[in-house]
Amino acid sequence: MATMVPPPPRTGPLVVQPLKRRHCGECGAGPLALLVLEEGAPRCLDCADLGHLVFLPRGDTALTRRSREESGLSAVVVRFNRRQSRYERQGVLVEEAALARAEERCLADAEARRRRRLRDARRRAAEDVRFTEAFARNIRRLFPGCPADRAHAIAAHASVRGSGRVGRSAAGRALSEAAVVSAVRAAVRHTETPYDQLLMSGVARHEARRRIASAVEATLAGWREGGPTGEGDPAGESGSTGEDGAGAE
Ligand SMILES: [Zn+2]
Repeated sequence: MATMVPPPPRTGPLVVQPLKRRHCGECGAGPLALLVLEEGAPRCLDCADLGHLVFLPRGDTALTRRSREESGLSAVVVRFNRRQSRYERQGVLVEEAALARAEERCLADAEARRRRRLRDARRRAAEDVRFTEAFARNIRRLFPGCPADRAHAIAAHASVRGSGRVGRSAAGRALSEAAVVSAVRAAVRHTETPYDQLLMSGVARHEARRRIASAVEATLAGWREGGPTGEGDPAGESGSTGEDGAGAE
């Protein structure tokens, strides 16, 4: 019978998934799913004193490494790839208790990572709330006529994390006047003018901006002075002023 190509040397026993039907040269068991070569002759795992180990397929690097660390005796399992003419690693054989301990360590790590992600998310949410409140206060300082709920909506929109909107830019984080005005102007453009309809009807962006520019500035001027914003807006917003003293002037 043809001798099998000897696999590369490794530390610890090497176990082979045979491509052909093989039987144990010592006890005759077989055909064998896994075997060990002793001087070129196949041995079953029981005869090779590896019968108590369990197979862990390749794929989970951390689990494999920890299982081998935890295992007093372990073996690499390989299979010969004819096309590549080389042995390929299929997994490891480790003690069952070692695998259980390794699984616990990996689960503990996953749980620790999950808890850290939760803490980070809570911290970011609190930061976002503080940032949005500060942004809204600055809007109301620069635009006393901007309704409080509108100021908060603009601030929340501008501070959406990772959106690349003005509120998260360096200037926005610094709550600079330019950033606040820019966020308010953008909001006015979309909500107080026909800008979006112009874009939808195919008007080029710069032309659309040109057409609505005076309406935007009129609204901003009204909000800066703290007065009502009825100028040039026949639809009116008379019902939207729920702030202190708005109706008592
Ligand atoms: Zn045997």
